[in-house]
Amino acid sequence: MIGNRGMDDLIPVVNKLQDAFSTLGRLCPLDLPQIAVVGSQSSGKSSVLESFVGRDFLPRGGGIVTRRPLILQLLYSNQSEYGEFLHTNRKFMDFNEIRKEIEAEMDRGTEGEKGVSSVPINLKIYSSHVLNLTLVDLPGLTKVAVKGQPTAIEKLIRDMIMEYIVRPNCLILAISPANSDLANSDALQLAREVDPSGTRTIGVITKLDLMDEGTDALDALENRLIPLRRGYVGVVNRSQKAIEERKSIDEARKEEKQFFENHPVYRHLAEKMGTIQLQRVLNQQLERHICASVPHIKSQLAKEVALLEKQVREFDQHDLSNNEKPAARLMQILQRFSYEYWGEINGFTSSSVNLESLSGGARINRIFFESFPYEISKYEMDEKRVINELSTLVLNVRGALSGISTPDYAFFKICERQIERFRAPSLYCAEATMNVLVELALSTSEKLSTYPRLREALESCLKKAIKSGLSYLLHAIKCASNNDDRAPENHWTGQLLH
Ligand code: GDP
Ligand code: MG
Repeated sequence: MIGNRGMDDLIPVVNKLQDAFSTLGRLCPLDLPQIAVVGSQSSGKSSVLESFVGRDFLPRGGGIVTRRPLILQLLYSNQSEYGEFLHTNRKFMDFNEIRKEIEAEMDRGTEGEKGVSSVPINLKIYSSHVLNLTLVDLPGLTKVAVKGQPTAIEKLIRDMIMEYIVRPNCLILAISPANSDLANSDALQLAREVDPSGTRTIGVITKLDLMDEGTDALDALENRLIPLRRGYVGVVNRSQKAIEERKSIDEARKEEKQFFENHPVYRHLAEKMGTIQLQRVLNQQLERHICASVPHIKSQLAKEVALLEKQVREFDQHDLSNNEKPAARLMQILQRFSYEYWGEINGFTSSSVNLESLSGGARINRIFFESFPYEISKYEMDEKRVINELSTLVLNVRGALSGISTPDYAFFKICERQIERFRAPSLYCAEATMNVLVELALSTSEKLSTYPRLREALESCLKKAIKSGLSYLLHAIKCASNNDDRAPENHWTGQLLH
């Protein structure tokens, strides 16, 4: 089978990386670009795409064959080669069956043969000859609606194509057939709209074998007619007849090579033309993308290695070789945690001191010495009113008697009313402090990530203890405002502080 030959060198490296990440149960950060083929109807999009996979499996022929986007995910697998659709659970070992299923699904999703739909068909192909890569076959641009097709079909298809090619991570293969005017190429016009600098557009000229005798596409191929930054690659795909006669892709490639080598006008360009060369150009793009991604992956990995090494060092502190008892080790870990938590609250932290924002106990300090006074300052005291209230109260307390000093009772009553105003800011302050304490407990416990179950149990205990502290406080306030001396016993401070 012909695989993605141009990408052969990259396959083992990238797949090793991808395998390593999947063993860790993580997605590989190497996000390879999608490759979308854009062009007018029957320009040869499906043919080009199929040649990348090296297999015959896409429906082809006249009219709008591709009526829904086909998102083709190539996935490296060193086991058997097969296809799998998102809409069925079946494994397709036979690629002719894949084609039939695509055709059937096109009909199912478009309510009849003439319609188009933007709902994609998702197909995964597992093979040992491919890179993990996504290719997109899109409906061809059309201007004339045939009977039964909606008249707005041109806009419908255009919007559908735009949805894919507008993404910065999408390489655009702009396909133009050599037997029609390049200046009117829909593919190039559309590509220019989304990629004016031409950094992700590759020009492809198909059907070079079908040009009228005496004409050639040399100007276009030599990038003189409509210059593109990445230039053009000419290809010769199989004709409909050849496909019907079941000519293999392998055979077609040999003929393509001969076509360029023997052609009087293109002979000197033979090295730069053909499907293999197109794959090579694509390969270069992918290589560039991979190279650009590597520094980021490297720095990400270095960070993770540093973190893991730190965890290993922490492990080292518990010498597992000297028959140490688990309970003693547990105590040691908890003591250390408690020391660090205490340090976070009281300001001497074992981790580096944060220079950018307030951390640990400093945040609690701020609640008490900034937020709380601020909240209190919002309450305006009407001194005149208080004095008036006080004199009325003094008179009422004395009743029929008169005296020279203010009765204590009157004074207490006035204070009680003023102190009541402190209730809301105090509660706010208590709740904010609780949140900081919980946050600090959780961040300190991150150091116990090597003991996930212990960490989970400790976090749950701490949250409970801190929250019960707040409920104790609320209860105590309630008792105080009801003049109830039976304030609950304070169990929690002991738990929290020791
Ligand atoms: P699409 O509609 O753009 O996907 O085009 P297809 O790949 O389905 O091709 C349309 C028709 O043109 C098919 O019958 C192909 O066999 C034929 N075709 C595509 N490329 C070439 C080519 O380079 N040379 C010849 N002779 N026929 C081609
Ligand atoms: Mg097609």
